[in-house]
Amino acid sequence: MSNLIDSFHRRINYMRISVTDRCDLRCIYCASTSFHDQTHEDTLRYEEIHKVAQAAASIGVSKIRLTGGEPLVRLYLSRLVKLLANTPGIDEVSMTTNGTLLAKYAAELKAAGLQRVNISLDSLKPDKFTYITGGDKLDDVLHGIEVAQNIGLVPVKINMVVLKGINSDEITDFARKTITDDWNVRFIEHMPFTWAKMQGNELVSTQEIISIIRAQFGELEPHFPQVGNGPAKYYKIHGAKGTLGFIGAVTDCFCAQCNRFRLTSDGKLRPCLLDDDEIDIRGPLRSGATIAELAKIIQSAADVKRAQHHLSTGIKPSSRSMRQIGG
Ligand code: SAM
Repeated sequence: MSNLIDSFHRRINYMRISVTDRCDLRCIYCASTSFHDQTHEDTLRYEEIHKVAQAAASIGVSKIRLTGGEPLVRLYLSRLVKLLANTPGIDEVSMTTNGTLLAKYAAELKAAGLQRVNISLDSLKPDKFTYITGGDKLDDVLHGIEVAQNIGLVPVKINMVVLKGINSDEITDFARKTITDDWNVRFIEHMPFTWAKMQGNELVSTQEIISIIRAQFGELEPHFPQVGNGPAKYYKIHGAKGTLGFIGAVTDCFCAQCNRFRLTSDGKLRPCLLDDDEIDIRGPLRSGATIAELAKIIQSAADVKRAQHHLSTGIKPSSRSMRQIGG
């Protein structure tokens, strides 16, 4: 059990590690034109990430999720997966990806110890996909989903950020996929960021999303046990094999249950996604800090973790984009 407990008595056992700030897509709600890619020198090496993970595991972190930027644009990612999966205390390594390169790497990632993947997909229509992401890669993502399912990176979860007037007409198409293709789809409320290309009121609340699905498919059945480590609430359409998850990042503050912190690809510990506080760990790492010393720095990050975010009152993090933080 984790000894890493923050000032609000939350047990932290989950670390999201961003391996790069680079991405092969430019999603309208995520990308920003005003940030430049960081240098290779500024980016943590795999051995450095491994050392932070060892320190985190020594005080009770047991689950790691790789993210980015797009994690699969970083070369030889399976080498890192192998290091992490073989770290004593770490019992789960998973990844969040846009899926464009997944078909190519799924087998070697699985062999290296990756257990499951979440795949971000906001449209099933080629033109809309390209409009949202800036890339013509829908077929690659769909192929990646199929390969991940077949190879056993399961449960595969599909994350859809719902954007009013942009892809909100596809909510029922995604819900239907839980019946026809056994997908586990999670509908995520759009979080507004000041740096994003897209500005405006695109929020479709979880309540609205659920109403739209109910109107088409009838009453939803709560699904237990809840899948994974996260804040989603799960349901099923009657008779479906796949699940529906809802992440009310804006309207349903789940901070009281928060069990995680983040490591950015340039070596900052970020206690909260939605708060600009960061603690440098790259400096100490490169000055030769021991694992015990790094563990103390991680504890200090837990000590300053805020009680909750303030999105609903309009306070937004501004210093970094999601691509840089590792969403
Ligand atoms: N490139 C990978 C991917 O696409 O999954 C990992 C990084 S991406 C930043 C991680 C997740 O953050 C994606 O599911 C993306 O949809 C989500 N995300 C980015 N900006 C968001 C926003 N403003 N509101 C809600 N989710 C957002």
